[in-house]
Amino acid sequence: MSLLEYIKGRARGRLRLLVCGHPTLRRRAEPVAAVTPEIRELAERMIRTMLENDVVGVGLAAPQVGRSLRLIVLGTHDPERPLSPTASPGEMLLGPRMPLALVNPEVVWFSPETEAVSEGCLSVPEVAGPVERPKRVILRAATLDGETLQVECGGLLARCIQHEIDHLDGILFIDRLRDEDRARVAPQISLLERRAARHAGAVSAEGGPGSGA
Ligand SMILES: [Zn+2]
Repeated sequence: MSLLEYIKGRARGRLRLLVCGHPTLRRRAEPVAAVTPEIRELAERMIRTMLENDVVGVGLAAPQVGRSLRLIVLGTHDPERPLSPTASPGEMLLGPRMPLALVNPEVVWFSPETEAVSEGCLSVPEVAGPVERPKRVILRAATLDGETLQVECGGLLARCIQHEIDHLDGILFIDRLRDEDRARVAPQISLLERRAARHAGAVSAEGGPGSGA
C-alpha cells in the first residue's frame, strides 16, 4: 500500500480551508513542541485536504486550516515519476517521500539569484500572479519521525517551501506581488476578504468542501 493510499484510508476527512481575510492567516504560528498523535493526524488530514481540494495544491501550511502551528505539507513531486537528473539535492531527498509533512521548517540560506514565477494559493482562490523569490534555499526542518533535515532545494520545491513558510509568518503571496499586479487583483482580494468576514466564527467546522470559490 502506498503512503497516499494509507493516508486516504486513515485520515478522517478534509479540513476546511481558511480564505484570506481570516485573522489566523495573518498570525505568526507557534513552533510544534512535540509530534503528538494529534499533530500526526493533523498532518495526515492536511495532506488529504491539499490533494483532494477542487484545485490540487502542491503545499499547505497549518494556519490555512485554522491551526497556528509551524507545520507544513508538501506535494510538489509525484513519487511515481522519475526525478530530473538536474534535480536539486532537496528534490532528490524529499521527492520520493511525497506527500510529506515537515515540522518547524526554516530557510537558513537564500540564493542571491531570484526568479519571478506565477503563484497561486488555496487560501486565495482564483488569484494568481508572479512572485520574485530566491531560486534556491537551504531548508532545515524535522520530519514527523523526528529526523532533522538540512538540504539545498531548487525548482518548484524551493518556491513552495518559501511560500509555505511565509504562511507560518502570516505572509500571503499577494503581499509579494509587484504594485501593478497587486492593483490588478485588488478587487478579487477585497471580495474574498468581505466574504471571509461574513463567515468568521465558522472556522472550526470540519469536513465540508474546500471554500475554493
Ligand atoms: Zn498558500
